[in-house]
Amino acid sequence: MARIHSLGFPRIGRKRELKFQLESYWTGDSSRTELLATAHTLREQNWQHQSGCDLIPVGDFSLYDHVLDTSALLGNLPERVDTNNDDLDNYFRIARGRAQNGDCQCVHAGEMTKWFDTNYHYIVPEVTADTAFSLNPDSLLAQVREAQQVNGPSHSVKPVVLGPVTYLWLSKAKDGSDRLALLERLLPVYTELLAALAAEGVEWVQIDEPILVTELDSAWRLAFEQAYHHLKVAPVKLLLTTYFGELQDNLQLACQLPVAGLHLDAISAPDEVAKLVDWLPIHKVLSLGVISGRNIWKTDLTRTLDWLEPIAAKLGERLWLAPSCSLLHVPVDLSLEATLDAEVREWLSFAAQKLQELQVLKSALNHGRDSVTEELRDNQRAIISRQQSTRVYNPAVKAAVDGITAELGQRQSEYTERAAKQRAVLQLPDYPTTTIGSFPQTTEIRQARLAYKQGTLSESDYQSHMKAEIQRAVEEQEALGLDVLVHGEAERNDMVEYFGEQLEGYVFSRFGWVQSYGSRCVKPPILFGDIHRPNAMTVEWSKFAQSLTDKPMKGMLTGPVTILNWSFVRDDQPRKATCLQLALAIRDEVLDLEQAGIQVIQIDEAALREGLPLRRSQWQSYLDWAVHSFKVCANGVQDETQIHTHMCYSEFNDIMPAIADMDADVITIETSRSDMELLDAFDEFEYPNEIGPGVYDIHSPNIPSQEQIVSLMKKAEQRIPRERLWVNPDCGLKTRQWEEVIPALKNMVEAAYSLRDQV
Ligand code: GLN
Ligand code: ZN
Repeated sequence: MARIHSLGFPRIGRKRELKFQLESYWTGDSSRTELLATAHTLREQNWQHQSGCDLIPVGDFSLYDHVLDTSALLGNLPERVDTNNDDLDNYFRIARGRAQNGDCQCVHAGEMTKWFDTNYHYIVPEVTADTAFSLNPDSLLAQVREAQQVNGPSHSVKPVVLGPVTYLWLSKAKDGSDRLALLERLLPVYTELLAALAAEGVEWVQIDEPILVTELDSAWRLAFEQAYHHLKVAPVKLLLTTYFGELQDNLQLACQLPVAGLHLDAISAPDEVAKLVDWLPIHKVLSLGVISGRNIWKTDLTRTLDWLEPIAAKLGERLWLAPSCSLLHVPVDLSLEATLDAEVREWLSFAAQKLQELQVLKSALNHGRDSVTEELRDNQRAIISRQQSTRVYNPAVKAAVDGITAELGQRQSEYTERAAKQRAVLQLPDYPTTTIGSFPQTTEIRQARLAYKQGTLSESDYQSHMKAEIQRAVEEQEALGLDVLVHGEAERNDMVEYFGEQLEGYVFSRFGWVQSYGSRCVKPPILFGDIHRPNAMTVEWSKFAQSLTDKPMKGMLTGPVTILNWSFVRDDQPRKATCLQLALAIRDEVLDLEQAGIQVIQIDEAALREGLPLRRSQWQSYLDWAVHSFKVCANGVQDETQIHTHMCYSEFNDIMPAIADMDADVITIETSRSDMELLDAFDEFEYPNEIGPGVYDIHSPNIPSQEQIVSLMKKAEQRIPRERLWVNPDCGLKTRQWEEVIPALKNMVEAAYSLRDQV
């Protein structure tokens, strides 16, 4: 009999209850008791959703981040928290930092970074050579008891803990010491933890070691042997859990470790299933993640059963089924989506629905497909409806993608030739000044957009409201003396959603929120079909903005790779194919803008880097199609049209050839926080085109002085010749106030004047 289990459930709540409760707790508007009560209710609801599982996870819930929870569990919160304070205070101090105010001590937050290749961010554990660990199990044990009480004796409660090797791998050694050297000190704490869990009656513990899907050197592989030989004496059964990719050269290692079971993400690693079935020692459980925890599509249950049945026959009791990874990365409950396009809704499955799919699989395997005839039939109907829908397949789009040639991504002339022509047309001074696109999104702007969306503001009133905002932005920029202007993006809610809403092939959920970090959630649009641009999307706004000024007005678009990486995308074709469709749609927009007289066009690729695969060996193939997509999108223009791209991150070293290959005339990047050192990568690579290294951090309310900006630009000049430098902020200004933007840009423009004077 196959068993089913869940690796973890979203914590944020169906309607983001945790978010709102946290935020009101932080501002002091609600009490700790209320916060803990909400957390309790959410855990209860989550267990309710998972009640069809044979093993129920506990410890997957978190008030902020499960990696930070692990640091707290292991007694490894940074020393800067005041140990006299209580645990919850300390926890939030590291999560969010505490500003200096009055007599209260200032504590800076832990660093945050992306959780593998997801859009979830965790708080990086901090260690030094002196780090000592000590078990702090009260919170987890309390949740175990709570789970046992809520779920009753018919369910086994399965604690979820982050494994010791992955924990160290995710940590950062503040003193540059070897973090792996801490393993010996860490393992006894894990042993103690497992014993404490066993004392609560726990049989199975899910121990997450997702780094097994990455490239590990011999020291880290050895660490796995050492760790699990140490832990094998623990009086619980360990389910070694991997997800997000293939095990590849770690497969044998994973099979051999002395644990009671292994979980494989069978969605990312379908080809490894057969190997595990053959190689896994016969006393071990094999847990297969057969339902994607990373996307929102219904699983084809019949097809899944076709390949699972022989495996189930072979493994019997040893087969467990689960989602591929924690369901943290998908929205909670599709049943809330009453207004979603009915046809597309049929094809979708959020966390709660994915667990129902799992139950159907279990029933079919254990009691025959007849036991779930209706469920399988409904599922099959939805799968076929999606496969055959004319809304998914548009032959014209397919033909257009098939027709893409290498030349389509090639500019007419080399950069130097283009630059000369652009100089003649644009007549820009040295150190041209510009901004990255958005201006402050004031309350009035947000209200007008909302009212328009809800139908309480008429189309024409909305138009005039937005035009007034554009006019204001243009006037401010002219008064400041900027050289290349922007329209300010008042009409855009979000840089991906705005385009998605105007493209065919997209739908939008109402409650499809996914945790990004702490209380912050994102609602990725759902790309379900071939992408087609029925109408121009930005041309009228840009034309209007250009009509207000003699200065060049920069057209503003989001690039195909960023749209792809920030959406839920199709699983029925490679990402590359979807990206090229997006590229063609945005290319049409680029050409329409050019046609309308826009001479400078910026195509943002803020998310290009974050699409990099987990394994370096796969980077090149991703970069090849990502860069090709960008070029197809951008490079159809005349030499005189200047293409900008913008990327707001600060790591380029390892992807320099790809960045150069994009061949944008101008790239604007985030540099102010790295003191221009980031430009070393461009310098060493002899990056040939123009660069706008951000001269101030738009995330901070601080106003940069003219001197600061000049001094940063001087540093830039040591690396990049002045003829190829632009002066601009790090990123868009939408989160700032006009009162901050005006003086900052004033100093920036004056800095450019003074640089021009210093020949
Ligand atoms: N053009 C966008 C803006 O200014 C860019 C945002 C981004 O890079 N994240 O808001
Ligand atoms: Zn940016």
